[in-house]
Amino acid sequence: MTEVQTTTSRERRNAVRLADRFEPLEMPELEYTDAVARETEPLYQKVKDVIPAIEWPVMAPYVKAINDLKKQRNAVILAHNYQTPEIFHCVADIVGDSLQLAQQAARADADIIVQCGVHFMAETSKLLNPDKLVLIPDMQAGCSLAASITGADVRLLRERHPGVPVVTYVNTSAEVKAESDICCTSSNAIQVVESFGKDTVLCIPDEYLAKYVATKTDVRILTWKGHCEVHERFTADELLAYKEANPGLEIIAHPECPPEVITVADFTGSTSGMIGYVRDNKPAKALLVTECSMASNIAADLPGVDFIRPCNLCPHMKRITLPKILDSLVELKEEVTVDPLVADRARLAVERMVNLKS
Ligand code: SF4
Repeated sequence: MTEVQTTTSRERRNAVRLADRFEPLEMPELEYTDAVARETEPLYQKVKDVIPAIEWPVMAPYVKAINDLKKQRNAVILAHNYQTPEIFHCVADIVGDSLQLAQQAARADADIIVQCGVHFMAETSKLLNPDKLVLIPDMQAGCSLAASITGADVRLLRERHPGVPVVTYVNTSAEVKAESDICCTSSNAIQVVESFGKDTVLCIPDEYLAKYVATKTDVRILTWKGHCEVHERFTADELLAYKEANPGLEIIAHPECPPEVITVADFTGSTSGMIGYVRDNKPAKALLVTECSMASNIAADLPGVDFIRPCNLCPHMKRITLPKILDSLVELKEEVTVDPLVADRARLAVERMVNLKS
């Protein structure tokens, strides 16, 4: 009995690799010809305010080659809101926050997903798209928040707080999601925490998101010391100085920011919430307290809003570039796999969140 179980477990734990099922392709020519210039001109028009004309001849051959290969491979490119404008506007098929990307990819009729974002996002895409080949153009694209906690840490927290439900932010590895009761995003965290009807809930690993949630609910929130290295760099003094220098400026913050920053913000919300706020309210001047590519990406659609941009870049997001996306499509690398036993439990935590009645 034991022998049979061990063999079965071992077989199941071999995450299935799908890349071998696809043919290798030749690297396309990358010249800036008249034909490439003509074909990519409408795309350049979308980004001309944020990409200097002198840089476009370098980018355009990659943009064309990637868009051609996408069709040939039946691939979709998912780009997070923090990707650079040439990726976000010129090669991506689906854009948004990490959960929106994974969910929309599940509805796409594609064989391959290329995740332009960080590793935990690619894992979430794989959880929700187990039969698709999921590629990330740079396997080193990590995240300080996801790296702050492991599955073993969550098991230890459960031992220390028996019976307390564990809500895990989607910005975590599949291993951590698998140890959780349910996932949350920055837009639904309050609803998820309150869904248990308990007086205490563990909301991990983002300390600042948890503190923000604690200000909006009567549930007692226990947390972890994880931080996003981009959002934790902002300070209230810096933002107040921008406000003083720019009368009428609206400060729009992400809940991964420290509490002192959220205190001086006019609005706090997830990346999608922040974008929605600017679209709906069209402030004359706005400062998005988040990764700086997001302002560049939405500025193209909102010419009437003057974005003040203190530039905090996410070094992990910026590992994804046009040349690496092209390599990814040509050579089918790097394939993201998740141990099936972990994947089943992690998927359950994500699905519980998605199925939560609003
Ligand atoms: S912006 Fe922060 S949370 Fe997002 S990937 Fe970078 S380090 Fe992680």
